[in-house]
Amino acid sequence: IKRISRYEDGNSSILFIILIIMQYIKNLVEQDLYNFFESIGEKKFRTQQLFNALYQQRINNFDTISTFSVQLKEQLKNNFLIDSIEVETIRESSDGSKKILYKIINENINKKEYIETVFLPNNVNNKNKKNTICISTMIGCPVNCKFCATAKLGYKRNLTTSEIIDQILITERILNQKINNVVIMGMGEPLLNYDNTINAIKILIKHNIINHRNITLSTIGFPPKIIELADSNLKIKLALSLHSPFDDIRKSIIPLANSLSDTFSAIEYYYKKTKLPITFEYILFSGLNNRDRDVFQLLKLTKKIPSKVNIIPFNDISFTKAKHDLKAATNKEINLFSKKLYQKNIMAIIRKSQGQDIEAACGQLAYSKNNNYK
Ligand code: SAH
Repeated sequence: IKRISRYEDGNSSILFIILIIMQYIKNLVEQDLYNFFESIGEKKFRTQQLFNALYQQRINNFDTISTFSVQLKEQLKNNFLIDSIEVETIRESSDGSKKILYKIINENINKKEYIETVFLPNNVNNKNKKNTICISTMIGCPVNCKFCATAKLGYKRNLTTSEIIDQILITERILNQKINNVVIMGMGEPLLNYDNTINAIKILIKHNIINHRNITLSTIGFPPKIIELADSNLKIKLALSLHSPFDDIRKSIIPLANSLSDTFSAIEYYYKKTKLPITFEYILFSGLNNRDRDVFQLLKLTKKIPSKVNIIPFNDISFTKAKHDLKAATNKEINLFSKKLYQKNIMAIIRKSQGQDIEAACGQLAYSKNNNYK
């Protein structure tokens, strides 16, 4: 952000360009704000007042903080920005879900960056009466899963804490809806953006925006990070994108997958620490992972851990022109596979895909504006 001041002394005019790097305030943790208030001679309790304004009153303009003096509001305005993303377009599905294309607010107007967020209202998934949001943690993704549209964008960068949090706060504001359930299943691999994702989750929990039991993080599984997450005591739900119980097949469709033995040791540890059942996500592909040996191997892997398997229909990604040889399982194959799991006492749920008509279903997020596929 550039500020330009012009001083005129009659004969000459001097142009000063002062470059001030503005920071997004929601990227700052408590200690940063204490330090800021201290540096300008303010008391520590201003931090709590500011948090209250940001996360309870949900202000998007410092002028509306009634407990702050005019001078203090000016100082905040001179140093910080509040919103880090803004709505570009909203598409609504026939099933009521909405896909929101957010543009990153950037000081460089030539730099256009977008992310996608999906709002799933409770009437779509009436069982739990929850409004759910599916949020992104990266622009693009480096994992390069063969079946995922986001992979076709390549990896651009990690989202900041503020950009992650704002997907929830701004969606609530513009849709005028309360969100009670967050799934970290949008664009990106959250455990490869660990610090910003965890900071965002901490803010959600600390400021009572979302209960920890209503936050689910989905990952392909990086064992050391799963252990770190278990030790963080945040107690959020964990979902593992499994898709095959065999290392070779799994790696052929999820190139950055870690070994199943390390991944399952970490997941077992996660369960022991949190006592929260694990969800295994399993896109069913005809002939690849729906064979009887897959059922047996799934049983072997999952029996030690209280868990359920979410069978996901393969959502179409042909709009990205991606080349692959994966074949979506038919409804008949999906029902048969889930029946076989049931017979082995594996809890299997067929996940209903939402928002397919607007490319908002699992794996379809690839901002159709400015498409730039690899
Ligand atoms: N990177 C994380 C979270 C984002 S993907 C992860 O991989 O878990 C969220 C879920 O959607 C994952 O289980 C992913 O495997 C699944 N998914 C990706 N592409 C899909 C597609 N085309 N159809 C159905 N599910 C897909």
